[in-house]
Formats: sequence, C-alpha cells, structure tokens
Amino acid sequence: MEVKKILEESSHYVMNTYKRSPIVLRKGRGMKVWGSDGKEYLDFVGGIAVNILGHCHPKVVVALQKQAQRLLHVSNLYYSEPQIKLAKMLVEHSFADKVFFCNSGAEATEAAIKLARKYAKENLSGHRFEIITTLNSFHGRTMGALSATGQLKFQKGFEPLLPGFTHVEFDNIDILKRALTDKTCAVMLELIQAEGGVKLASPEYLKNVRELCDKNKLLLILDEVQTGMGRTGRLFAYENYDITPDIMTLAKGLGSGVPIGAMLATDKVASSFHPGDHGSTFGGNPIACAAAIATLETLLEDGIILDQCRRMGAYLLNALHGLKKEYSNVISDVRGKGLLVGMELTMECTPLVNSCLEQGIIINCTAGNVLRFAPPLIVQEKEIDHMLDVLDNVFARFV
Ligand SMILES: *Cc1c(COP(=O)(O)O)cnc(C)c1O
Repeated sequence: MEVKKILEESSHYVMNTYKRSPIVLRKGRGMKVWGSDGKEYLDFVGGIAVNILGHCHPKVVVALQKQAQRLLHVSNLYYSEPQIKLAKMLVEHSFADKVFFCNSGAEATEAAIKLARKYAKENLSGHRFEIITTLNSFHGRTMGALSATGQLKFQKGFEPLLPGFTHVEFDNIDILKRALTDKTCAVMLELIQAEGGVKLASPEYLKNVRELCDKNKLLLILDEVQTGMGRTGRLFAYENYDITPDIMTLAKGLGSGVPIGAMLATDKVASSFHPGDHGSTFGGNPIACAAAIATLETLLEDGIILDQCRRMGAYLLNALHGLKKEYSNVISDVRGKGLLVGMELTMECTPLVNSCLEQGIIINCTAGNVLRFAPPLIVQEKEIDHMLDVLDNVFARFV
C-alpha cells in the first residue's frame, strides 16, 4: 500500500488518539528504520525508550522464533519456564525478591498501587491508602495510573479520578513532608520525569525521600518504566543514587519491543499479595518472557552495552551543551543521564522535529518544548555526530 492510502485508511479505521508524523515504518535494524517508501532514518526515539538493543536485535529475534515454535501461551493456572527464569534474573540483578508480570507500564503502575494498598491494610494500623506522587509525573493512562499521574492535561475529561492520590512538587522534600497525612501509605516517583520533560531529581532529595519513607513506614515506589533496563547507564536508575525502593515498576525496554511489564518488590511487601489478589491473562506469557530474557542476557553480557550507554550518553550531553552555546537564544537547558537526554527550548519543538524527520533523523518532542533523545543503547558516536549535524542545520534555519 502506498503511504497516502495507509494514512487515509488509518484515519478511517483507527481511533484518533495519537498525533502522528506522516511516515509509515516498515523495517528496522539496529539504529536504522526504513519507511515504506524506502527512505532510511536514524532512530533516536527507539520506540520511546523501548528498543534498547536497537531494532530487531538478532538474539531477541532468535529467542522469539525458538519460543514461538515451542509454546506461545499458557494460562497462569500453570507454570512455564521462561516466566520463572526471567523472574529469577530480575531478582538476582535488583533489590527485589519477587516479581509480578503484566503487559505494560500502566499495568505495572496498577499492580504497584494495589500492592501498596494491600500491604498497608495488612501491616499498618488505621486505614492508610493514600499515595503521594509528584506534579508533572507520568505513570500511565489507565484510571489508577492516570490518577497517579500529576498532569491535568492527561486527566481532563476523565473525571472522577480514583481517590487517594496527592500530587506534590517534584524534587522538593519540604513540600513532600508537609503532604504526609495519617492516611499516607506510599510515595511514588520517577527518578527522572521523562514524559514530563526529562527532569532529574537531585541525589539529596532521593536520599531524603527514602529516609522520610523509612521514618513514617511508607513504601517507596519507583517508576522505572522508562529509566529501567540500562537507560541511565545502570541496569536500574536507582543504582545511580545509593537508594533502593520497596516496589519498582518496569516495562518499556524490558522486552525489546514485545509488550511486557513487571512490578518488583521486596519479600516483606510482596507477601501481602495472596492467590486471587491480582492477576493477568497474558502476564508473564512465554513469548514475552523469552524476549525479555534475551534482552537482559544481551544487556548484561560483560557490561559492554551499559558501558557504551554511559559513554555515548556523556558524549551526546556534551555535544548538546556545545549546541546550546551556539544557539543560546533558543536552547535554554540541556540535561540527562545515560541515554535519556532532554534539550529544553524557548520555542515549541514540533517544527524542529518535523524538519529533522525530513532529513532522516527521528527525534521526539515531550512536554511541548523539550527535545527528548532516547536512542537504542547501542548507538555509536558516528550516528550521534550525524544526528548533531542535522540538528545544527535545523537550528540554523529556525533561528
Ligand atoms: C511510558 C510510561 C508509563 C506507561 O507505560 P505504558 O506501557 O504506555 O502503559 C508509565 N510510567 C512511565 C515513567 C513511563 O515512561
């Protein structure tokens, strides 16, 4: 089908929930994707922090092929090996003791909310159910996750939201302290507000939040849906900050593009879930777990990819700081960790994103005026250089 026809049929048959660029992607390998018209792109969005190993990594593809020939799905009424193997790997490489599997980030948030409430019910006196989250956060689109999300633009039109959420300013420990009530059971945070414009929490704040939670018997839930799986140069972003959560959510990069989410917790917290308390038909399904196992194995192999992520992240950040000097009237800030990098502009970034797209570079705009770079962790210097050349040209044209 030609592009025009696909766009027409999409608007005819698919619900109108996405603002999309008018390109149809058909094939991907590593950092590259190709449009149906044959045009080649360098992908610095990577499925929004999903394709951490690049497109169609051979190890993931082969693992999927093998698993597809053996077993696609069994119900969680029975055991399947890939699920147990993946849970063991996640536990062995994190703070957690137990894993619950689901299919997306929003579902992982829902599972975390339910576990926090159940834990409070079984372990704390009084009816404690409130969860404090931060303004400008993003935790997903389902009603519970949407209620946790601290951005009105996502919530408008869907009220009433789920009760029991308080939103406070990010990276401000005093305001968080003042928001505690005798109903509070947990604090939920992104270490870096990714959708909110790549905003980093300070290490002191995160330490203080952990202490505050300990002192008040609150659970700390870290949403690592976007920052997890090596994105910040460590397998999980909390490893950068010398803290551990009680609950952590994962999704995006976990399956290299195959839908899978996970909610991890310590034994102390996880033991509040009993048979029948929570579940998912597809959660931990063999094909999704096979993709995640291959992803984790590849990611952890000799630490090469994590090391590359740190080096390329530093390289990208430094180069963007250079651009900021050159175009200081439009670029107001550059920040990030590993390969989650944001460039804040004094203008809307959509025209720049479109211009880059025309020149074969896929970058993304978040929070209206922040260019977000979340490329595969296998990105190389020469690819970053090429992207920067294009970006430089685009800035020169717009300024
Ligand atoms: C993307 C994202 C989610 C939601 O994940 P979905 O798979 O789209 O439901 C939740 N939290 C964070 C931090 C995210 O970046």
